This record gives sequence, structure tokens and C-alpha cells, in this order.
Amino acid sequence: MVVLLQPNTDDTSEAFSKTMDHLRNLSDIRLQKHIVEGNEQRLTEIYLIGNTQKIDRAEIAALPAVERVVRISQEYRILGRHNDDERQHGFEYNGLHFDQKSLHIFAGLCAVDTAYHAEKMMHAIQQNGLYCTRMGAYKPRTSPYSFQGYGKNCLPYVFELAGKYGIKVIAMEVTHESHVDEIDSCLADAGNPTGVFLQIGTRNTQNFELLKVLGRQKKYPLLLKRGYGITLSESLNAAEYLATEGNAKVIFCLRGMKTSFSSPHRNTVDFSQVPVVKRLTRMPVCIDPSHSVGSRDRAPDGLLDVFHCTAQGVIAGANMVLVDFHPEPQKALVDGPQALLLKELPHFIEDIRISREAYLKRLRLNSNYQNRATS
Ligand code: PEP
Ligand code: MN
Repeated sequence: MVVLLQPNTDDTSEAFSKTMDHLRNLSDIRLQKHIVEGNEQRLTEIYLIGNTQKIDRAEIAALPAVERVVRISQEYRILGRHNDDERQHGFEYNGLHFDQKSLHIFAGLCAVDTAYHAEKMMHAIQQNGLYCTRMGAYKPRTSPYSFQGYGKNCLPYVFELAGKYGIKVIAMEVTHESHVDEIDSCLADAGNPTGVFLQIGTRNTQNFELLKVLGRQKKYPLLLKRGYGITLSESLNAAEYLATEGNAKVIFCLRGMKTSFSSPHRNTVDFSQVPVVKRLTRMPVCIDPSHSVGSRDRAPDGLLDVFHCTAQGVIAGANMVLVDFHPEPQKALVDGPQALLLKELPHFIEDIRISREAYLKRLRLNSNYQNRATS
């Protein structure tokens, strides 16, 4: 059960202490407080953990600071939707809004290799009216002999260039807690010219200690990739780890599943689950067509598989597209063969716009039919 307090409830108010005193006296119930900081209001949610069956919901709803009481299932207590569409979802970050209705494109380098390529990439982003990118500094590689990323050495120029080209958010994977401090201090040295989403890669989806550390910091929102070989529910529980530690600014990313049947794609594309994640949770849903498809193969209709899969995710309501581009893919140190070319960026954006428009049209069509059915 979750008790939603009235917006902006003051912890020192009488209503708050009366409410909390009552809740603390419930037998066999543990309380967990969770704050949702929005731009306009601050929401306090009190989770009642234990046997809540015998609790009288009306009695709790009548407490002075309480706005509403929602019964929740055991799964995904904080991030879950629990059939309650009124609960706040999404978050603001660096002037942008991320929720289950918005759509943002994060096109960029899988791995930063040179300042020249990072600059070419960010320049193209600005020229095409975008304002977010991906820049991999810490790369989790299957082979210890592969390039592991330039780590903190590339951060100064990456952040400086981000400022120069008006980048608002960079999605950047971290594989160890020390990377957060490195990002933090390099950002500060550069004068905080941009924002960062800390990305948790598919290999670390169930690295619980890393999840806990990242969840404890609230400065940077989190982009959690689905685990490649675990169930959806296990991956959503990984997201819940972040939220239980205090950071509920989490975007969930579908990036394909490792199965024996994906070939010739790198992974079995799972974008049909965009609406499923939206139904089960309040998280915005990202798709990563590059790591799902893993190639620049083209269908007989002329479109790259990466374009087709992106369209499938966007037409199903995806809220973010994380995609590999590279100015010179043949020189890329990681994942060159799947990278899109800078000259393909305007085409890619326009293709997404078509799918997005089709998605919004589908919503209107659906609501017309629903209205007719109920009238
Ligand atoms: C990436 O996005 O750079 C990456 C390594 O992806 P994944 O964790 O999905 O393999
Ligand atoms: Mn990659």
C-alpha cells in the first residue's frame, strides 16, 4: 500500500506528524518514505510494507496530510504503475522533460575515440536540431584485449564540446562507482556545460551493488538497459533496485535479447514490449536499435534494418531512441559496422517523425473507438 501525501507537504507541519504518528503505530508494518521531486511540486509517498490486508484504507485516507491511498502489488513498488494512471511519472532534467509521452533522440558515438570525431558528431546533432547524444567513455567489452574506452581522459573534451554545441544530456555508460566521481569532477571542471544520464549496460543489469550505489546518488538520472539473458520481470526489478535506494529518475531501455534465433540480427529485437513496460511501470521507455540489430543490412525495400526496427519501437510509443552514429565508421574502435553515417542523420530523424506521427494518429483513432464504445 502506498500513501500519497498532499503535494508539498512540509515535514515539520502538524498534519505531517499526526499522519506519521498514526502510520508508525500500525502493527507489523514497516514504513519507507520516498520523495518525488518535480519542477513544480514535491510529492511524498509513504510505502507501507508488511501485511497490509487488514489495514482500513478509508481510515488512512482520512489522515490530515493524506491525499490518496493506493493498493499496490508486490512487484515494482516504486516504479510500478499499479493500475493507477494518476500517479506522477517522469522527470525534468536540464530543462528537458522525460516521461511516457515524450520522445527524445540520443544519437552519438558508441565509444569516444578522438576529439575530432566527437566534435563532428556533436556538430551534426546541433545542425539537425537535436540536443542529446550518447558518448561511451567506459566500455564493457567481451574480450579483455578489445579497446576498453578512454575513460576519464576523454571527459574534458567531451564535456567542453557538449557545451560548445548546446548538448543538454549525454548518455554515458558507467561500469564502476568510481566513474560517477570522475564524471562529476570533470563536469565541474568544465563548468557544468551539459547533463549526463548514467547508463547501466546490459552486462550490469543485475550488478546489484552497482545498482545500489547508482540509486543512492540523485544528481544524475539513470538509463538502465534490459539484461540480455534474463526475464523482463528480472530487469524491471533491477530498475526497482535503483528506485528503492532513492533515485526514481530511471529510463528503461530495450536493446534486444540474446537468443539462438536472432541471427542475422545481433539480438532478437524486443520492441513489441515497449507498451508492456509502459503498462507495468511508470518509466519512460528507450529503444536501442543499434545494439539490437548490430549491422547496416538493408531490406529489399531500401531501408536499413536499423531504420525499420526504430520505426517499430517508435510506432509502439517509445520515449527515447539511443542510436550509434559515427563520422567515419571504418575508423571506429567499437561497433563501427552498426553505426549510421552523419549524412543519414536528417533521413533518420525524418523517418522517426513519420513513425511518431503515425503513433499519435493511432492514439487518436483508438480514443475515438473507445468513446464510441462507451457512448
Ligand atoms: C552500449 O550502449 O554502448 C552498450 C554496450 O550496450 P549494451 O549494454 O546494450 O550491450
Ligand atoms: Mn556498442
